[in-house]
Amino acid sequence: MLNEEQIWKLVDAKRAEFIALSDRVFETPETLYNEFASVAEHVAALKAEGFTVTEGICGMPTAVMGEAGTEGPVIAILGEFDALPQLSQAPGVAEHSPIEVGGNGHGCGHNLLGAASLLAATAVKDWLAENGIAARVRYYGCPAEEGGAAKAYMARDGLFDDVDAAISWHPSTFNAVQHGHSLANSRIDFTFHGKAAHAAAAPHLGRSALDACELMNIGVNYLREHMPDSARVHYAYLDAGGVAPNVVQAKATVRQLVRAADLPTLRDLVARVRSIADGAALMTGTEVEVKVYSGVSNLVGNRPIEEMMQREFDKLGPVPFDADDLGFANEIRQTLTKDDIAASFQRVGRETPADLPLCDFVAPLDRTSNGGEGSTDVGDVSWVVPTVQARVATCAVGTPFHTWQTVAQGKAPAAHKGMIHAAKVMAATASALIQSPDTLEAARAVHNDRQAKTPYQCPIPKEVSPPIIAKPEKAARAIGQ
Ligand SMILES: [Zn+2]
Repeated sequence: MLNEEQIWKLVDAKRAEFIALSDRVFETPETLYNEFASVAEHVAALKAEGFTVTEGICGMPTAVMGEAGTEGPVIAILGEFDALPQLSQAPGVAEHSPIEVGGNGHGCGHNLLGAASLLAATAVKDWLAENGIAARVRYYGCPAEEGGAAKAYMARDGLFDDVDAAISWHPSTFNAVQHGHSLANSRIDFTFHGKAAHAAAAPHLGRSALDACELMNIGVNYLREHMPDSARVHYAYLDAGGVAPNVVQAKATVRQLVRAADLPTLRDLVARVRSIADGAALMTGTEVEVKVYSGVSNLVGNRPIEEMMQREFDKLGPVPFDADDLGFANEIRQTLTKDDIAASFQRVGRETPADLPLCDFVAPLDRTSNGGEGSTDVGDVSWVVPTVQARVATCAVGTPFHTWQTVAQGKAPAAHKGMIHAAKVMAATASALIQSPDTLEAARAVHNDRQAKTPYQCPIPKEVSPPIIAKPEKAARAIGQ
């Protein structure tokens, strides 16, 4: 039996349990370091599979690591399970239909992401045992990918230092090996402190923190023309100083999210944004307090292991969707715009065909891709260990992520087929790497070469802790289960 066939069969043998795990996580959508029910599911599955389990890694109550095997190379498989706010949506229907108005929903498919990664780690564990191979496989259950940057803290604090290669995936509209680029970012809170006063009777005695925020935003607007094309700065008011216009606002906070193609460019841009804040404080007679909230590095590629994953993906082929899957995908497509669909194809360097509701190909490694670049905390992992990710089709072509349409498809049969496929790609890549010390060595050489030229410097300063604000009653309930 071919190595691939054996590992694919090991994945298939446990598909039902892990599809059920994904569906249960879908049913309890939790966000930003509050993923207590979701991580409890992952902990239970790891224990049932006989992994050595460490809960609460990196000081994060909703993070977990499971390890199996002995000696040899260490392969990490990364999973996520957090949801997004305001995206509650009934599954399996092609219209906007929240289950709970204002509730959370799995708008990025992380219920599938975590379950498939855990299934891949399980299949590698079983494969090592069946063949008596000396190697270790680790599953990292990482919380708070959406805005919490958990993996960046883990990378900064050395949790991947003894790992030889890291593998992950993300649900997608296409099948492809992820290219090694994304935007680095830094989220920084600027709190201006001024002086309250009666806005009509004594405005000369007040110093407005809200004015400072507004001047800061104007400064950033002028900065935008003079920064690299791929850089971005977005902002949100966390505190606009209250609701009383007749009181000069004594305190106001604006969060700036700065993005750039790489870490040195990000550092330069962040320094310029900080100068603008100083300028705004000077103009308004206020003081500015600067606090880094979180940050992530850009993804960096690693050709030897990308080629290895591409070979494994090509052997497996595209996700085997059926006529029912196409039917539901077509219903979803009726809710999408032509621009959504065209943008989706541009990202994998293809012309938009007349009719392709679900991806039926594996994109080549050497493809041109256009736009659609965000940030991911896998970026930091890629700076400390050779890292590769798959993108596997789980939903209709053109589906924009972080929308109700993604949630609606999150436990559909097509999504289940996609997650099983992703587990096979990752497990096959892991077993191929374990059997190819030369590839692991080549990957390490590429990595070390980059480190020598540009050493990793995590965008989150050492003294900053993860932004964990756990809801205590929820934590108690989950621990009690
Ligand atoms: Zn995501």
